[in-house]
Order: sequence, then C-alpha cells, then structure tokens
Amino acid sequence: MSECIFCRIIRREIPAQFVYEDEQVVAFRDINPVAPTHILIIPREHIASVAEATPEHQALLGQILLAAPRIAEKIGIEKDNFRLVINTGADAGQTVFHIHVHLLAGRALAWPPG
Ligand SMILES: [Zn+2]
Ligand SMILES: [Zn+2]
Repeated sequence: MSECIFCRIIRREIPAQFVYEDEQVVAFRDINPVAPTHILIIPREHIASVAEATPEHQALLGQILLAAPRIAEKIGIEKDNFRLVINTGADAGQTVFHIHVHLLAGRALAWPPG
C-alpha cells in the first residue's frame, strides 16, 4: 500500500474535509489554506506529478480540470473566479508527489505568483 499522504487520505486513513468525489477524482480542503477557499483536486490513481503522466492519463487529467467549476458551484463560490495551480517539481513548490490541482479563490490573487 502506498504511504503517499494523498493516497492515505483517499483510503480514509487520514481525515480530510472532502468537498467532491467521483469515480476518478476526489477533492478536499487544504489543511494550510493560502486563500479563503483552498481546495486540492486529485486523481484517485497515484501519479507522482504532471511530469510522470503519460498519454493514457489524458482523459483523467482533463477530468481533474473539469471538476473545478463543478466544485466551485457545489461549495457556493463563483464558478468563474478562481485560480488553478499545479506545482511540478520541488523547485516549483510541489511538496506532495501525487498530482494535485490547487483551487484558490476568495481573494484577489496577484500575478505572477511568488
Ligand atoms: Zn498517492
Ligand atoms: Zn501542493
């Protein structure tokens, strides 16, 4: 069994505040939010990063992105005012090596990010 913290969250071995689930994708609130709304959208399948993804993951990666507006609508935030971030690699800020999309909303977000 994977010791990956996100795989453990998916298996309910570590508690998380889930906001969305379907057959391929789950989403839960980040425990260290950097915005009023900060959700992590992840595939159930363990893929370390976008750099590790292969063509067979094409549909899955699309599903992760398409989950975002559905999640926004479900939790009652504006479904056309959020930022999606995928950090890839340690130097880019990736800390958990299981693909995850950060959904950030609820405040003005600067560009470029830090
Ligand atoms: Zn994992
Ligand atoms: Zn992250």
